[in-house]
Order: sequence, then structure tokens, then C-alpha cells
Amino acid sequence: DARIEGYDPELAAAIACEAQRQEDHVELIASENYASPRVLEAQGSVLTNKYAEGYPHKRYYGGCEFVDIAEQLAIDRVKQLFGASYANVQPHSGSQANQAVYLALLNPGDTILGMSLAHGGHLTHGAKVNVSGKLFNAIQYGVNDQGLIDYDEVERLALEHKPKMVVAGFSAYSQKIDWARFRAIADKVGAILFVDMAHVAGLVAAGVYPNPIEHAHVVTSTTHKTLRGPRGGIILSSRQGSGEMGEEIEKKLQSIVFPGIQGGPLMHVIAAKAVAFKEALEPEFTAYQQQVVKNAQAMAKTIIARGYKIVSGGTENHLMLVDMIGKEVSGKDAEEALGKAHITVNKNSVPNDPRKPFVTSGLRIGTPAVTTRGYGEQDCVDLANWICDVLDNPKDEAVIARVRENVTAQCRRYPVYG
Ligand code: PLP
Repeated sequence: DARIEGYDPELAAAIACEAQRQEDHVELIASENYASPRVLEAQGSVLTNKYAEGYPHKRYYGGCEFVDIAEQLAIDRVKQLFGASYANVQPHSGSQANQAVYLALLNPGDTILGMSLAHGGHLTHGAKVNVSGKLFNAIQYGVNDQGLIDYDEVERLALEHKPKMVVAGFSAYSQKIDWARFRAIADKVGAILFVDMAHVAGLVAAGVYPNPIEHAHVVTSTTHKTLRGPRGGIILSSRQGSGEMGEEIEKKLQSIVFPGIQGGPLMHVIAAKAVAFKEALEPEFTAYQQQVVKNAQAMAKTIIARGYKIVSGGTENHLMLVDMIGKEVSGKDAEEALGKAHITVNKNSVPNDPRKPFVTSGLRIGTPAVTTRGYGEQDCVDLANWICDVLDNPKDEAVIARVRENVTAQCRRYPVYG
């Protein structure tokens, strides 16, 4: 049998069940989204068969004339999308894009200054358990008591530690970032400014969140979060941002991705990136991202009205962190109880969290996936109220059952893949 279903029923069932889960559960994990059928089509294409080490028109293998077209389309479109003058679309993931930046532009032992994981940064921004924290002397900044990045404190740390690179960007921060201020801090100590815009790339592409491209020497992103493409990474830069170091930076980035840390690029994924970038250039994508933010703001307002704190007091992007310090329910318990109600979220440490990272006192909630389904603000208000019903009564099976019923009915109104 040529299809998985007849040949490997065990695996076919796992895939079918996952498809059903995606339809029946409401997805509020801030880093997830539903890629379009076109993106899925490209990823399932015969481009997966092709070795194409090198870059378009400079390959180490024959037969690359058609994959060259796919990669060049991805490069041209992503440059247009973000106003970049350089793009590398080969990184297999966001983490590999970040690793490439560090290894291209730093030496082991150099000092970097990034946002701490506990305050909203990503593992790859210098966490001790990540290679970025092992290979480099990672100094970490966080947020102040209002839950906001304290730029004066970032500047103080930069002046004290003289980092070679300042890292800006986050996995759990709900306000806008002043990229120009970060650049001014980096310039003050002669550091490279590296922005990881993975979470907000879709918002940036649509112009609803500030674009870091002119301010940073180098920018990375994933392609599968708000940007709604296939799972993968990209590296960008602009000559406004990189200045006179531009040519050297581009050269180093190009050779670190291949042959430095990767071999053959995933041409099927690069084709999927190309089609996702085309989708992101459409006017509907702007309307989608505007709705993502409106939906997040509607949820945050409702959650606050129900007596829960949101870190930084609200949201200016696609996500929020519910702060449950002092509440009986932990992040872990909340994630479990909401899961039973078919609401998927992730527990998340909040600033100054007294609970351990595996337990936490927070929940991270994001609206990119539900907005792709077609949810509007009223749907998000309803959803936020059901979440609070469960947080108020995490052990009450009757409440959980009622919420699950409501969630199921709401999901049916907005099928993901129809
Ligand atoms: N950078 C940021 C800011 C992220 O939030 C993430 C993913 O969570 C990554 C990088 C890593 O991306 P990936 O999971 O593709 O390695």
C-alpha cells in the first residue's frame, strides 16, 4: 500500500488523532499556529529528495536548477517582507539560526548580554543549560517590578560587562520593544546588536509591531510562529543596521550556516517558507495580524477583570503572561486542568516566581492560532471567561466538563482545515 494508512496503521492513527486534536482543542500556545494547506503541500513535496549543499547557483551538487528557483523566491520575498538587504533561509530552526549568529560573529568566551529565560527571554539567549550560556560568558537582564524591560538597567549592565553582543527579543514579553534604544546601548559599548524577533515576526511583517531590521546588525526569526509558515529559521540583516560591518557580517553568516553548522538544506521546507512569505505579503495577512493583537487585548482585559494579574498590565502583541503568584493554583495545575477542558496553554515562569520552573506561577497565552481559525474578540472574551472559570475551580470536574462543552462547540464553529 502506497499510503501510510494501509501500510502503517499505528502511525496513521497517531497522525489522524493529532489532526483531530488540532480541530477539537483550542490552541493558545503563543508560539504555535496552523500553516496553510499550501505550506503543508510544499513540505510534503518531492523537494525533500534533493541535496543542494551551497547556495542558489553555487551548489556542490548537480540538478539544482529547480530548487534554486524555490530558494531564490524565498530569499527575495523575505527581504521584501522585512526590508532586509541580506537573507539566509536555510537554518533548520530558530535555535540553529541563533547558533549561526553567535558562531559567525563571536569567539568562545566572549561576553553576551541577553534577556533571562526566567524573565521572558529564550533558552538561546544565554541560558546556562543552552550552548549559548556554556560557550559564552552570558550576562542576563530581566524586567522590573512593573514587568517592563528596564533600559537603564540594560545600559548599566552593558557598561559594566562590556559585551561583544547585545541580544534583544523574547519568548514571553507582551510589550513593544524600543529597538533604537537597544542599538544605542550596543553602540555605547561597541557591541553588535542581535535581535531575535521569532515571536513577533508576523506582526512585524504586517506593520503592527516595530521592525528591528534598521536597528540591528543582525536579525533572526523562526518561520512557524506568528509568521505562520513551516517550522524553520531565517537570518536577516540590512545595510542600515549593519553599517560598514555589513559586508563582513553577511559573508560570515553565509559561511557559518553552510558549511559551518549545517549540511544539505531542507529544500521542501525552504519551498514552504517561500509560499508562506508570499502569503505574508498579501493584504489579508495584515488584517490577520491586526486581529491577533485585538484578540489578545480582549483576552487580557477579561482576565484582568476577573481578578488575575497580567505581567506588565496588558499586551501590545500576540501574547500575555497570567501571573498567579499568591494564588493557590500553580501554572502546572492550571495547564493540566485547562487541558482537561480542551484548552491548550503552557505553564510559564513569571518574574520573581517563587515556584520551580517545572511548576511555575504563570500561564502564557497567545492568540495567533485561534485568530487563524477565525476567532474574533467576542470569541476571545468568552474563552478568557472560561479559562478564569477553570482557574477559579481547577479541581471542580463539573466546571471543567461545562467549559469543555463550550470549547468544543466554539471549535466546531471554526474548523482549522475545513
Ligand atoms: N527564539 C525565540 C525567541 C523563541 O521563542 C524560540 C522558540 O520558542 C526560538 C528562538 C527557537 O526556535 P526553534 O524552536 O525553532 O529552535
